[in-house]
Amino acid sequence: MYKNLVHGVNTLVPVINGNKVPYINFDNAATTPPFSSVIHEINRFSPYYSSVHRGTGYKSIISSQLYDRARYMVLDFVKADKNFYTAIFVKNTTEAINKLSYRLIDEIKDGIVLSTYMEHHSNDLPWRHRYKVDYVEVDERGRLDLDHLESLLKKYRGRVKLVTVTGASNVTGYINPIHKIAEIAHRYNSKILVDGAQLVPHHPVDMKPVEDPAHIDFIAFSAHKMYAPFGIGVLIAPKYIFQSGIPDQVGGGTVDLVTPKEVTWTSPPEKEEAGTPNLFGVVALIESIKTLKKLDMNRISNYERKLTKYTLERLKTVPNIVIYDDGNVKNKVSIISFNVKGLYHGKVAAILSLEGGIGVRNGCFCAQPYIQKLLKVTEKDIEKYKRDPNLYRAGTVRISYGLYNDFQEVNVLIELLRQIGNNTD
Ligand code: PLP
Repeated sequence: MYKNLVHGVNTLVPVINGNKVPYINFDNAATTPPFSSVIHEINRFSPYYSSVHRGTGYKSIISSQLYDRARYMVLDFVKADKNFYTAIFVKNTTEAINKLSYRLIDEIKDGIVLSTYMEHHSNDLPWRHRYKVDYVEVDERGRLDLDHLESLLKKYRGRVKLVTVTGASNVTGYINPIHKIAEIAHRYNSKILVDGAQLVPHHPVDMKPVEDPAHIDFIAFSAHKMYAPFGIGVLIAPKYIFQSGIPDQVGGGTVDLVTPKEVTWTSPPEKEEAGTPNLFGVVALIESIKTLKKLDMNRISNYERKLTKYTLERLKTVPNIVIYDDGNVKNKVSIISFNVKGLYHGKVAAILSLEGGIGVRNGCFCAQPYIQKLLKVTEKDIEKYKRDPNLYRAGTVRISYGLYNDFQEVNVLIELLRQIGNNTD
């Protein structure tokens, strides 16, 4: 429906077996192609492109103004209270979560972080690295077990300082009930971080006023999954978190005064953004946000849900397919994981690419514990893998839609999968 809004999606035509085949990109959970408006805006802005907060010239003033305004647009996009929260520009979600894990040292101290078995490694390892972490279980189908969350919060009797959870899984697409989780976490005096990498591009997000027990304390997301380029992401957090203490990265832009003997740090958010900022990244992100708002996140989410529902219905008719899904399309972004019985996921992905021009991803998607749960990998298997990592075969094939994918493309996928499924015996 939105194909003409996205740059380059109509122009890639690989030659397969001597025939030109239109490229179908079903790997948007990894990275989305940029909006044409984003490319246009980068070109339009380029004459003004200059160093932010580091010059008095016309270009520098324009660049600095745009950069400062951009923070408010980002906060507005997820309905974060501008007086309470700050938006820090980072490289991506991974950097945002690493930064936060470093800066929460005083809040968490020797307390506990609750992560979940559904997380991308980027929302697991930074916490493991610094704190005692426990994990909320998932059920048979991979949905988060909220009763287990509450039982862990009870068990640790106020020692849990942070619940960190993905807004939507990058493996199954399941959307977590973040406001319900926030209410539960706040009842036990814990804060909540939402990894928004897969949620923000596909679903409206509302951090809610801080007085509301369902509010979200922290959120992180990446521009390259929302139709803008690599290298820019956001961490949104209460300003006070960064007021005292020393930033994780220090250098130009982070200080008010430096003498040979002392350093006075400046205020957040600048305090947290060492070095010259990525202005083109911010220009791109802001334009992508404007375009998403214009298209309306509710409409995008409804359209992608229809496409996902259609795919799931048609996938069920494919012989030998195993789908990792609980059938609740309402609480899901446009990501589907599956396997073809008897075939290695890498082989299925290769056939889709080489015979159908369909780009997917296969493997563990940086979410190994979740894949191990979904595929019921045993401790014995893991011991085997530890001895020889080449034996690690656990994984799935993942398709993930962007707003520009359409029903015709899904039909091409289903027909090819039908041929693959029929030929496995
Ligand atoms: N969290 C989730 C749920 C993801 O899907 C990803 C990337 O795929 C990340 C975090 C990490 O994002 P980035 O690589 O942009 O830091």
